Amino acid sequence: MKDVVVIGGGPAGIHAAWLLARAGIGVVLLEAQSRVGERAICSGVVGDEAFARFDLPTHPILSEIRCIQAVSPGGRKLEHRADAPLAQVIDKGEFNRALARRAIDAGVEFKLGCWVNSLGVDRNSVEVSYRSAKNGPARLRAQVAVITTGVNGSLNQTLGLARPRQFLRALQAEVTLPPNGHGNATRVFVGQGVAPGAFGWEIPLGANRWRVGLMTDQNPAPYFAKLLARVAPQMDISTLRIDRKGIAQAPEGQCVAERVIAAGEAAGHIKTTTGGGIYYGLLSSELAADVLIRAFRNSNFSVRSLGEFERYWRSTFGSELLVGYFARKLIRKLSDGKLDDFFDAANVTNLLPRLNGRLNFDWHHRALLGTLRALLTLPGGVGNIC
Ligand SMILES: Cc1cc2nc3c(=O)[nH]c(=O)nc-3n(C[C@H](O)[C@H](O)[C@H](O)COP(=O)(O)OP(=O)(O)OC[C@H]3O[C@@H](n4cnc5c(N)ncnc54)[C@H](O)[C@@H]3O)c2cc1C
Repeated sequence: MKDVVVIGGGPAGIHAAWLLARAGIGVVLLEAQSRVGERAICSGVVGDEAFARFDLPTHPILSEIRCIQAVSPGGRKLEHRADAPLAQVIDKGEFNRALARRAIDAGVEFKLGCWVNSLGVDRNSVEVSYRSAKNGPARLRAQVAVITTGVNGSLNQTLGLARPRQFLRALQAEVTLPPNGHGNATRVFVGQGVAPGAFGWEIPLGANRWRVGLMTDQNPAPYFAKLLARVAPQMDISTLRIDRKGIAQAPEGQCVAERVIAAGEAAGHIKTTTGGGIYYGLLSSELAADVLIRAFRNSNFSVRSLGEFERYWRSTFGSELLVGYFARKLIRKLSDGKLDDFFDAANVTNLLPRLNGRLNFDWHHRALLGTLRALLTLPGGVGNIC
């Protein structure tokens, strides 16, 4: 019997496995894909804070972001430019593989091409049933399971663990384009006609390569075609490889059961403002690993013992998830005209410079609350905008 089985080999699962193995705990990681980093669909934007905090590999970095420009439906702009990089853009497949290499060095056993169908829990262990692409159906026992299956919440569902309040649908393609005439800014497009409920993006990778995509609470296909026609009018959409994936938003319920912890996007630990899940996924798995290391010391895997994870993640980024979720719900209600009004008002009142100090790539709730406060002081107040 293994000590821990980690289910899902994205950043959250691999990071948790590495931390546990470093503490001397025996870990096996089951991943559905036959190679780590396969189908790692992502824009790959990771703030510098994550690199510093987790000593992340830097060779998967493709470009850096120093300027972010938000574009309103009517073409008004709000720009945040910094002297130092705001974030890095990575090749997420290679990033995952680099994390996996250090986990393997620490002793983690990877089983690839293994799709986990079910997870059962009894008094003394967990039992995982999976289908290996090579060897067919198999079972494995461990003391504890960590669910890090990303947006696939099927195991959570069978155990009654946290569910996201909402799923967004995302489409993205990599395209070759000339410089965008905006100082190679990363551009974010908002509006009911652009990406209802969220936003579109254009991210420079260097050498005239760009990631263009969007996430929305609607069918994303027609919005993606429109966005592409806007940023790359010469592009024939039928020639592109377009990736699609869901994004989980804002967990409801517990992430812990007896002998089981759900972490990363499987637990809804993903920014509700931007859909960025890598940093919060790493934070979430670090907190889960801390709790598990203590649980192994005390040989106590009860809900009460593992429940510390709930307190940790809620106090670390719980308010970020909630404030971001409800702010996005509020913005969802704004018509395109009102959004343009907001951009005008924000520019006239120098909103971004005034928020300086509260603007942070990874932590948004203070800037969001500052924005709300600023809206209240506008002539006519927030009622006028909404
Ligand atoms: C289009 C798009 C753009 C994004 N852009 C960004 C961005 O710029 N920055 C950012 O930080 N985040 C971004 N995200 C979100 C980010 O990619 C995820 O939130 C993050 O990867 C979550 O990490 P994770 O380890 O929790 O899950 P994942 O990375 O999704 O990994 C889960 C793993 O579990 C495996 N798995 C699933 N089910 C099973 C099963 N039953 N058995 C075995 N294995 C299983 C999967 O194959 C996968 O490898 C984006 C997402 C999308 C869709």
